[in-house]
Amino acid sequence: MPKRDLILLALEDSTTSLLMQRALRAASYEVAIAQEASALEKIIQESVPALLLIGEKFSGQSGLRWAGEILERFPTMPVVLYAATDSLELCKQVLQAGLSGYLCPPLRNDDIVQTVEHSLAHARRMGDWLRREVKKTTASLEKRAELSEAERKRFEHIFSNIQDGVIILDDEGRIQFVNRVVASVFELNGNCRGKPIIEVINHPDIYTLVKRAKLVPLKYHEISFDDGRIFNAQYTPIEGVGAVITMQDISYLKQLDRMKSEVVHTISHDLRSPLTSVLGYTELVERVGALNDQQVEFINRIRSSVESITALVNDLLDMSRLEAGFDTRREVIYPENILKFALDTVEGQLQLKGLSLAVDIQPNLPSLRGNPIRLRQLFDNLIGNAIKYSPPGGVISVSLRAEGQQIIFKISDQGPGIPPTEQARIFEKFYRASNAPDSVTGSGLGLAIVKSIVDAYQGRIWVESAVGKGSTFFVVLPTG
Ligand code: ADP
Repeated sequence: MPKRDLILLALEDSTTSLLMQRALRAASYEVAIAQEASALEKIIQESVPALLLIGEKFSGQSGLRWAGEILERFPTMPVVLYAATDSLELCKQVLQAGLSGYLCPPLRNDDIVQTVEHSLAHARRMGDWLRREVKKTTASLEKRAELSEAERKRFEHIFSNIQDGVIILDDEGRIQFVNRVVASVFELNGNCRGKPIIEVINHPDIYTLVKRAKLVPLKYHEISFDDGRIFNAQYTPIEGVGAVITMQDISYLKQLDRMKSEVVHTISHDLRSPLTSVLGYTELVERVGALNDQQVEFINRIRSSVESITALVNDLLDMSRLEAGFDTRREVIYPENILKFALDTVEGQLQLKGLSLAVDIQPNLPSLRGNPIRLRQLFDNLIGNAIKYSPPGGVISVSLRAEGQQIIFKISDQGPGIPPTEQARIFEKFYRASNAPDSVTGSGLGLAIVKSIVDAYQGRIWVESAVGKGSTFFVVLPTG
């Protein structure tokens, strides 16, 4: 016969205890007896009884309170209360306390055994149900874990095999993942997970990218290698992860761009001399004999057309020089002086259009390192545009201030504004906004030149504009 469950009797009255003990043993239960609190505690801890049968008074405390405390610690243990008298009130209390049952005199063996058996069977059913639920939950958790592991592997496989370089960093700039392309271009051997990126990848462009991305939102950054390869890198902060750096090989695009710039450069260069000679002859024509009014007008038209072609050719030459990276001149320059000169030279144009100028230049601005001619060109282009696109009588505001390690130039006008969808495109070569007034001529190269100069300084340029209200151009140049 299999060993039966252990029943703990916690009864002060020894006669009742003996009676119950006999009845239960006769039904083949094992019985342990506690007559005071410490014995009850000891047996519960060491033997873990299958059921507790407790008197309505035990060790100076009500049996219901004991039951409450024990159920708090062992919620699945069935507890039966023994009371001297039966009443409706007792039945209610037993139910409220969550006990399994109760016994009252007259105590018949069958009643004792039956109550114990019922309580045990109920507890068993509860236990089985609990186990089943736990099993189900565990199985579903395991399944989910399996799925997310499979998912993780799938993503790792994709990231590893895409043609772009991928680096995932945590909040502290430590590497969490690098894919094959990154490992190969930076010749990374071994596991670099958990190590700071600037220690693992010893490349000045990566260093600048990571450092600068922490200070300013930085979207694009070029990473050049000694063998001529150039990658375009993007740094994207991701909340809860850290950041992701993606890199695309743009060497072939750079090569194409170089070839295109060379063609443009050659053509522009070759066009300059014949244009100069056309201009020269227009002047000579007037000197060699008298011209009638119509001839003078025609000559003037030729001159003005040749002048605009010359301006375009000069812009193209400038652009190709900047793109080819020929502009390597770096000297200490004071942006406020350069801006003041640029503003002085446009006084006549302002007067002609009846424009007023509000200037706010912070005194003692830090110096920059760069080419003064290029910075002047940057100011000239932006001021020139503000004048060109301003309506007569409008106001132009210019400000130059320092903030942290940066110099911020801002110029606002009350011109036609730029449609939101075109605001990013106006910095492209030859792009002219769809609402540019016909009366305002231009090549669409000015802002492209400005953008190239800003890029050479590792700065940023953008525009905020509302159609019909005006535009504000911002240029941020790092001073450090
Ligand atoms: P453009 O020679 O045509 O002025 P830019 O490269 O200087 O060429 O500017 C590109 C385009 O951007 C312009 O054609 C114009 O549509 C728009 N733009 C530039 N500056 C302003 C401004 N201050 N107000 C309104 N539109 C402007």
